[in-house]
Amino acid sequence: MSHLRASRERITRDLTWLVSYASIAGSEDEVRVQDALVEAWRAEGWSVADWDLDVVALAARPDFPGMEVSRTQGRGALLTWAGTGGGRRLLFNAHTDVVPPGDPGAWSGDPFTARLEDVQGSARMIGRGTCDMKAGLVAAWEAMRCVRDAGISLAGDVLLAPVSGEEDGGLGTYALLQHGVRADACVIPEPTDLAIVPANGGALTFRLRVPGRATHASRRTEGTSAIEKFVPILDALGRLEARRNAAVDPVMARWSIAYPLSIGTVHAGDWASTVPDLLLAEGRLGVALGESVEDARASLEEAVAVASAEDPWLRDHPVVVEWWGGQFASGSTDVQHPLVTWVGEAHRERTGELVDIYGAPYGSDLRLMSGLGGIPTIQYGPGDSAAAHAPDEWVDIDDVLTCAEVLADVIIRSCADPA
Ligand SMILES: [Zn+2]
Repeated sequence: MSHLRASRERITRDLTWLVSYASIAGSEDEVRVQDALVEAWRAEGWSVADWDLDVVALAARPDFPGMEVSRTQGRGALLTWAGTGGGRRLLFNAHTDVVPPGDPGAWSGDPFTARLEDVQGSARMIGRGTCDMKAGLVAAWEAMRCVRDAGISLAGDVLLAPVSGEEDGGLGTYALLQHGVRADACVIPEPTDLAIVPANGGALTFRLRVPGRATHASRRTEGTSAIEKFVPILDALGRLEARRNAAVDPVMARWSIAYPLSIGTVHAGDWASTVPDLLLAEGRLGVALGESVEDARASLEEAVAVASAEDPWLRDHPVVVEWWGGQFASGSTDVQHPLVTWVGEAHRERTGELVDIYGAPYGSDLRLMSGLGGIPTIQYGPGDSAAAHAPDEWVDIDDVLTCAEVLADVIIRSCADPA
């Protein structure tokens, strides 16, 4: 369809520049990078709105998705390329926050000074945030420039939203939706290795309080060990995970366990020679596509209640389930939606290959865009998610170019004509 060519030089320059902002969740650079983008886009002649986020007020709302670092300020921004009218609105949503670099010794250079390295003939750019997901942001930006530079007129609007706070809950996307931003379709260019990801499983953090009765270990049969009482609960959770994964949505079929139920921490007892009177276990419950958060919670609470009822001690001293921390709903977009077709066809024409389509077992802003915003949303972007959050995080510049050209084509397919 289109034969628009993205600029390797612009992509390399812009990605290097964005990586130089250490936009770690909760840092000053997280706000500064938003401001820098607004300034750069205005200098290129785009129409850009920006506004302050009332973080305290947003966090107090009942459906706020959560925040794991402290923030006192935040900035919202939206680039709008208004069409001639009567067309669809296509939105690109890209987060600008990154996770901390971790042990600097594990990096081959400064995490925030991007550098190119030739690996078996491909140009990799290395730096924190290259893969997750400043490359995706640059690809969407470059796609818009390609279409504009080609003098193509659009009926529909194209929007580009840089958002903060994705890594610790979704503050930026939540604020964008609260600001009233809506669209007919949304692409989040997260690192999917140029596959279409139309669905994300959810994740709910929980804590179990397993009671026991303390006594001296030399007389242990007169007490009740909370550790021993946790064993049947753990077994019950294993059976629950198997039941919850017995039949999953075909889009999740590639994962051995689509919706993992995992215990991450266990703490019990305070003395080696005392029978422990309390065990605290924390874990993460996967939420199935199409399943409500309430139903997912109920399934775990019921499994724990049933296992407690079968045990003489736990029957009278039941295990308590608490929900705390990140509470990510699942989210999905119908693979029959035209957006999937536009991206799939554009990808095939650009690469000569059929695009891979699968759901991911982790949560992202997709759930907020599709769930809270009601906007059909997919992820499609450059980079392998296995490189995200890792030392020497990298992205292949060729993949960023491909993504930019595919997204340019998607802009034309979705916005060139009246809807
Ligand atoms: Zn990401």
